[in-house]
Amino acid sequence: MPAYDPDNIFARILRGEIPNDTVLETEHSLAFRDIRPQAPVHVLVIPKGPYVSYDDFAANASDAEIVDFTRAVARVARDMGVDLDHGQGFRAITNAGRDGVQEVPHFHLHILGGQPMGRMVNLP
Ligand code: 5GP
Repeated sequence: MPAYDPDNIFARILRGEIPNDTVLETEHSLAFRDIRPQAPVHVLVIPKGPYVSYDDFAANASDAEIVDFTRAVARVARDMGVDLDHGQGFRAITNAGRDGVQEVPHFHLHILGGQPMGRMVNLP
């Protein structure tokens, strides 16, 4: 696991050094709109703790952080109107490392929706 880079862009957002369009903040998680949205709904959910990727988070976060994050994802889907009680569904994606084409090395989940999302993977 690469060391966590405390100067990555999401760490700077968490420190309030860079503005963001917050849609939900909880004790352990923050959700904000992606700066380059790829769908009508495109929200990133991140833990406040310093985790590089999903596997880092799942292995090393506390139970409280994991529960908070998981519930935050569901709440964002509901608040954005894409959950299955109020909307037509969503896709949740997390990219990890080089082959996952992860741009920002702070664990985040993309929530995408508001239109049919097409094929899951398009390899070049
Ligand atoms: P990744 O490829 O790491 O899974 O996705 C990183 C995402 O972060 C991209 O969708 C990109 O548009 C988004 N992003 C990068 N910099 C910023 C920023 O400064 N603010 C916000 N809101 N999103 C960002």
